Amino acid sequence: MMRLPPFTYLAPRRAEEAARLLAEHGASAMVVAGGTDLYPNMKRRQFEPKVLVGLRGIGELGAIAGSAREGLRIGAGVTLTRLAQHPDVATHYPALARAAGVVSTPQLRNMGTLGGNVCVDTRCNYYNQSYEWRKSIGFCMKKDGDICLVAPASRRCWAVSSSDTAPVLWSLGAELTLLGPKGDRRIPVAALYRDDGIEYLGKAPDEIVTDIHLRAVDGWRATYWKLRRRGAFDFPVLGAAVAVRLEGDVCRDARIVLGAVASTPREVPDAARALVGERLTPEAIQRAADLAAGPSKPLDNTDLVYHYRKKMTRVYVARALRELAGLPIEGLRPAGMSARDIEERS
Ligand SMILES: Cc1cc2nc3c(=O)[nH]c(=O)nc-3n(C[C@H](O)[C@H](O)[C@H](O)COP(=O)(O)OP(=O)(O)OC[C@H]3O[C@@H](n4cnc5c(N)ncnc54)[C@H](O)[C@@H]3O)c2cc1C
Ligand code: SF4
Repeated sequence: MMRLPPFTYLAPRRAEEAARLLAEHGASAMVVAGGTDLYPNMKRRQFEPKVLVGLRGIGELGAIAGSAREGLRIGAGVTLTRLAQHPDVATHYPALARAAGVVSTPQLRNMGTLGGNVCVDTRCNYYNQSYEWRKSIGFCMKKDGDICLVAPASRRCWAVSSSDTAPVLWSLGAELTLLGPKGDRRIPVAALYRDDGIEYLGKAPDEIVTDIHLRAVDGWRATYWKLRRRGAFDFPVLGAAVAVRLEGDVCRDARIVLGAVASTPREVPDAARALVGERLTPEAIQRAADLAAGPSKPLDNTDLVYHYRKKMTRVYVARALRELAGLPIEGLRPAGMSARDIEERS
C-alpha cells in the first residue's frame, strides 16, 4: 500500500490567509482543495510538500452567484457534483455541467473542486507511476530526472493537459481571479495555461484561484465531447469543447478548444473561423472538423494509440458541431449524454 509522506496541514478560514501562508512557506508548500489528484500524486512521490494549505474551510470559495443574463461567478471550492447539478449551470451552461459531470467517479466529483480541476497536474504514462516504478526505468525531468522518456532528444516535458473543464471554460471565454500576497488579478482562462508539461500554469506558485467567471450566455451554445477508454472514470485522452453563437441558422462566432492533445488546452482558431458566416450544414461542419484535426498533435504518452486520438479529433469535433446544429449524430454518444438527450436534440 502506498502511504502519504508526512506533512503539516494548515486550515485557513479566509482566502487572503491562504495566500499569505503559501507565500510564507514558499516552495515547501502547496494548496490542496478536494485532494483527489494531489493526494494520490503525493503517495507516488510526484510531489513532496512539507506544508499543505487546505482550502476546504474557506466558505467564500463555495459560492455560486449571478445569472445567465449577467454572467455567473463560481467559487473555486465548488465541488464538481454541485457544479454539474446546479440549475443555472445545467440549464444555461450545459457544456460545463457535462464536463464536470464526466470527471472521474461520483466519489471523486463529490470531493473534487472546480479550482482543483483547472489546476490539475499534467499527465504522462512515464510519470503517473509509483516511485519504485519510476526509479526502475530511470526518472524523467518532470520529477527527479533530467531527460524525457517519451522524446529523449527533447529539452521540454510533453505531459498532457488532462482537465475536462479547462477546454470548456476556455471555449466559453471564461475568466478567473487569482489571489496572491500582493492582491488579486483577473485573467482569461486561456492565459492560465502554458504549453509545457512541467510549468503548465501561467501563475505564481503563491497565487490561488478564487473564482471562475462565466460570461453572459448572450446567444452562445456550447457542448463538450470526451474520449476515454472506460466511460466510468477515466481521464480524457481527447476532449472537444465547441461553442458557437448562432443568428437564426447562421454562425456568427465560434470557438473550438481541444483537451488532452498537448500540455495545454489547444484552441483551433482556423477551424472556428471557417464556420463564421456559414450555416451549420454537414459540409461546413466537416470542413471545420478537418481543420481542427491539423493542430491536434497527441503524443504516445497517455492511453489509446496516439494516431487514433488524432483521427478522433475530426470525428469528435464534427459530432459536437452536429449536436449544436441539431443534426443526427452517428456512432457513440458523448460521455454524460443519454440516447434520449440526443434524440430530443436531433
Ligand atoms: C482515478 C482518477 C480519475 C480521475 N479522472 C479525471 C477525469 O476524468 N478528468 C479530470 O479532469 N480529472 C480527473 N481526475 C483528477 C481530479 O480528480 C480532478 O481533476 C479534480 O477536479 C481535482 O480537484 P481537487 O479539488 O481534488 O484538486 P486537488 O487534488 O486538491 O488539487 C489538484 C491541483 O490543483 C491545485 N489547486 C487546487 N485548488 C486550487 C486553487 N483554488 N488554486 C490554485 N491551485 C489549486 C493543487 O495544488 C494541485 O496542484 C481523476 C483523478 C483520479 C484519482
Ligand atoms: S513527457 Fe517526458 S519529461 Fe514529461 S512526464 Fe513524460 S517522460 Fe517525463
